[in-house]
Amino acid sequence: MEKTSDKNKLILIICDGMGDLPTLRGKTPLALARKPNIDKMARAGMNGLLHTIAPGVIPGSDTAHLALFGYDPHEFYKGRGVFEALGAGVKLQEGDVALRANFATVDRTMHVIDRRAGRIDTKDAHALGASLDGMRIEGVEIIFKPTTEHRASLILRGKNLSYKITDTDPHSLGKIKRSEPLENTTEAHTTAFVLNEFTHRARNILSSHPLNRKRKLPANVVLARGASVYERAPSLYEKYGFRSACVAGGALYKGVAKFVGMDIIDVKGATGTLETDVMAKAGAAIRALDDYDFIFLHVKGMDNASHDGDARAKIKMIERVDKMIGALLKTGAYIVLTADHSTPISKREHTADPTPILIYGKNLRGDDVKKFDEINVARGALGHLRGLELMPIIVSLMGYAKVYGS
Ligand code: ZN
Ligand code: ZN
Repeated sequence: MEKTSDKNKLILIICDGMGDLPTLRGKTPLALARKPNIDKMARAGMNGLLHTIAPGVIPGSDTAHLALFGYDPHEFYKGRGVFEALGAGVKLQEGDVALRANFATVDRTMHVIDRRAGRIDTKDAHALGASLDGMRIEGVEIIFKPTTEHRASLILRGKNLSYKITDTDPHSLGKIKRSEPLENTTEAHTTAFVLNEFTHRARNILSSHPLNRKRKLPANVVLARGASVYERAPSLYEKYGFRSACVAGGALYKGVAKFVGMDIIDVKGATGTLETDVMAKAGAAIRALDDYDFIFLHVKGMDNASHDGDARAKIKMIERVDKMIGALLKTGAYIVLTADHSTPISKREHTADPTPILIYGKNLRGDDVKKFDEINVARGALGHLRGLELMPIIVSLMGYAKVYGS
């Protein structure tokens, strides 16, 4: 007879770039932060270190999140653009080519003189974006969706497109580039042609747009980079049978969540910055537990502080997250706390150092780790895990795993 086990709810908290190296007085920001709730979970739960991709591999946020959700990035990662588009609320179709785009200012010789078009505000960017959206080139539909400030998603929709093309973005102040095919196929040639034609037409439309006449640095060009293709993946629900939701500020994280079939819960005050309203996020996560079994809660601030090399801001953000966790502890749900990668203050960039991880909840064996930081968790019961190993553990804790064999 098959045994039906109880189902449990679980909150996965990913603190972007939380892992670090000794930085102040020989200690990491996690070791220095006052975090009574997190340390309480560490004492009662199981701890370890997590290589989100594999030992020695430096994870990007996108590939790391895919792995943590149980999707092998080597199979499912086809570039960042699709996640940005999904996160911006675009409903992608199989085969859509999505690029990250931004408004910039070019001079007469098509040299970029300002990569953010004089820090154009979101409202103006949306008005300009509307004049580019819906264009058709060689039967290819152009979907142009501004997000925040100068940033936008550019989607090419049509038959026989390829994401194997180069960027038009010069990635610095230089002459805007022509997109070139990266492989000798009709699809790649067509797609590069369409992108170049879009860039040309967008330049003409934007140059004569009334909104640009009053701007000192007109948003007169669109730079595009990181072409990617959308291929539908099986959802978490299809794979495991539980309902999942995402609470995040940044479009990229919402996009990866959407990609794996989570519902997105928009939270007022969730900004994806150091100022994000963590208590509003906690409230949203707690309410979501009524309708969902698995909540992915993303906090970005630590990564921002790390790229700025600001240890104190990182410590403060960890302490704010601790308060947020204080509220989540009352739910009785399992809590998994980890990071997508380390971003050491001393390096100001992502590194391959494994991230600390803890699992807290009922019926765990526990270990003798008393404090949650990069050094102490190394002695924990979870040992060294890889990102792809986390979701099976979560599925098991939640009561959705099936016996292998009999
Ligand atoms: Zn990250
Ligand atoms: Zn980062």
